Amino acid sequence: MLPFDDALRRILESAPALSSESVSLESGVGRVLAEDLIARAPLPGFDYSAMDGYAVATNAFSGAGPWALSVRGESRAGALAPELEPRSACRIFTGAPIPVGADAVVMQEDVTREGDSARFAGAPQLGAHIRRRGEDLAEGTVAMGRGTRLNAFRIGLAAAVDRGDFLVARRPRVSILCTGEELRSPGSLALPGTIPDSNGPSLAAMAQSAGAITRIEPRTGDTMEATEHALRAALQETDLLLTVGGVSVGEHDLVKAALSNVGAQLDFWKVLIRPGKPLAFGRLGNTLILGLPGNPVSAQLTFALFGMPLLRAMQGDQKPVPARGKARLQSALRQQPGRTGFYRAVLEGDLAITASNQASGSPVSLAHADALVIVPADSSGFEAGESVDMIRLAEL
Ligand code: AMP
Ligand code: MG
Repeated sequence: MLPFDDALRRILESAPALSSESVSLESGVGRVLAEDLIARAPLPGFDYSAMDGYAVATNAFSGAGPWALSVRGESRAGALAPELEPRSACRIFTGAPIPVGADAVVMQEDVTREGDSARFAGAPQLGAHIRRRGEDLAEGTVAMGRGTRLNAFRIGLAAAVDRGDFLVARRPRVSILCTGEELRSPGSLALPGTIPDSNGPSLAAMAQSAGAITRIEPRTGDTMEATEHALRAALQETDLLLTVGGVSVGEHDLVKAALSNVGAQLDFWKVLIRPGKPLAFGRLGNTLILGLPGNPVSAQLTFALFGMPLLRAMQGDQKPVPARGKARLQSALRQQPGRTGFYRAVLEGDLAITASNQASGSPVSLAHADALVIVPADSSGFEAGESVDMIRLAEL
């Protein structure tokens, strides 16, 4: 019997580091950097104007105002700036380079134009509205460290520091083997006693969103021979094998024995979580194995809580575990102490509305949930209005 944190730690510690590959900006989202991304250019690359207005030298504003300067030249975005002539103002636009000799920009709203002359009511501050070369990031410094998972903003930063490609961890290969005579493909002919395989597609979708390449193996029935045969095939050329079902204690639950028979070393745990079921964890050579329970809510939640962080850790992600947030409970939530509870909830603002059906047989409440509200193992629950920890499902 393992507490949640211990099981997660043991799984993450066993994550092997995957090799790296180069990808282009366009295919980098969701990947994890396998190098420190060095800025090859400073950011910004040159001094430029943050406003439409006039570039000036502050030493032209001596004595009492207002001041008038003649307007000479123009600096546009994408072109070289002219030099600032003495005692003049240079017309300038947002993003345009600052003329040599200018040390401030006055926004055009603060300037009265009279023919070729510009009148200034106030004197500008030194450096006003100028973005300096390298003020956000100096050339040669680390824009993002190895182990950063790239989201859209980080793709933007990589592009801004002039990187068209970079090294990321290669995608982990995940194979998924569902067991059970009762399973059939969703949408296929419904023979009596059969049910659609809902875990395979759900687990594949989750693994893909954690950066994996997935392979759904042909389902296997509940004989030892078929299970061993399917396992041998599923263990080929994969970094993580997920087996689904057949790990409880019924006489048709053969997966654990079959895994041993094909040579896998297995830890078999009861993890103290709710909804909770047994979890097998092990390896064969370089392939890790997660044996998930068959019940869809248990399988999908167990994979979300352990498998997704594992896939991220394999890619070197420095933050493999989803961030926890806070929410206020709309109504009281009770549990028998002893296991960490993960309760499905809908979020409305900062309010968590826990699903009335928390049964491990209810995939409906899981599919409609926005978050999992967490009740610590030693707690018997919370009152309405209390603040609780939660994991947003969108962050998984
Ligand atoms: P098991 O762990 O094999 O005893 O399965 C527990 C329950 O989950 C049974 O009701 C199975 O029919 C169901 N189940 C197992 N695998 C799947 C699957 N891939 N998709 C949907 N339900 C499943
Ligand atoms: Mg089964």
